[in-house]
Amino acid sequence: MENKLNEVPHRRYNILTGEWILVSPHRTKRPWQGKTEEKKELKKTTYDPGCYLCPGNERAGGETNPDYSKPFTFVNDFAALLSDTVEISVNEGLLKAESEKGICKVVCFSPDHSLTLPLMEVEDITAVVKTWKKEYAELCEKDFINYVQIFENKGAIMGCSNPHPHGQIWSQSSIPTEILKKSDKFLEYWSKNSRSLLGDYLKQELEAEERILEENEHFVALVPYWAVWPFEAMIIPKRHLQHIGQLSSEEEKAYAEILKKLTIKFDNLFETSFPYSSGVHQAPCDGKDHPEWHFHMSFYPPLLRSASVKKFMVGYEMFAGPQRDITAEQAAKRLNEQSPVHYSKH
Ligand SMILES: [Zn+2]
Repeated sequence: MENKLNEVPHRRYNILTGEWILVSPHRTKRPWQGKTEEKKELKKTTYDPGCYLCPGNERAGGETNPDYSKPFTFVNDFAALLSDTVEISVNEGLLKAESEKGICKVVCFSPDHSLTLPLMEVEDITAVVKTWKKEYAELCEKDFINYVQIFENKGAIMGCSNPHPHGQIWSQSSIPTEILKKSDKFLEYWSKNSRSLLGDYLKQELEAEERILEENEHFVALVPYWAVWPFEAMIIPKRHLQHIGQLSSEEEKAYAEILKKLTIKFDNLFETSFPYSSGVHQAPCDGKDHPEWHFHMSFYPPLLRSASVKKFMVGYEMFAGPQRDITAEQAAKRLNEQSPVHYSKH
């Protein structure tokens, strides 16, 4: 079946969101005549006096960073959500709005300005995972927080203004749209089968092998069948965990290991510091049990054919729905051809 799908236009179903994606593999031979971008060299400066995330430097909000040596978190100086927002709601005819409370934090992964996840030691990435866990637990304890979104924007191409290795954690009162879609699908499957939707999907993927990128005792990295971005990937825990707060210390390390391996493959693909948006999707912390949820992390990288050719979501994709040219299987094959050693260390 798969071989045929590599040649004909088809649609694939995303079991987690209920949405379809158009796949057009017959177009991959089309000549490229659009925009190209400069290939970037890896940064080498371990400390940048002008960086507002480096240890000891002053931030835009006026505060000074401590001389930190482990992951360091602080409340975003220009937060999109505030904890002391007054309650307002609008309900006038067809106009509807409501105020939203939340807390937005920044997580510096390392004091070293030159690093990125694929270049960090597993031990230091484990410290980042532990920080995510700690922040998740602390934010969830607040009565006005019902969902915690952990994410990273990597690379200027993704709109990330600072190259210092860092991510963000936005937490809020309401459950965001993407989580609502997934909650519905998880619950539907759980109610019918009393099993995890993603757990069953993982079993099928491990049997098929075709889209698997990395596997260790506790985690699997794969290209999802319904991938939208050219080299989209997903990290799934083998154990049916609802959120990262449930990770054992062994699982924290296994998570860090697979994060490093996956991001090395990404960097090696076009010999560039591979840009992406990544994020952890997990159960809401709204005081209810969510046995249906299975936490996972997704990577949405925009690069298509080289370090300088980016996929744009325009035209049909803006107005109708997502579309891709190379299939998920072709993308997995290309990623699996990469060396497990980072290209800068060759
Ligand atoms: Zn820095």
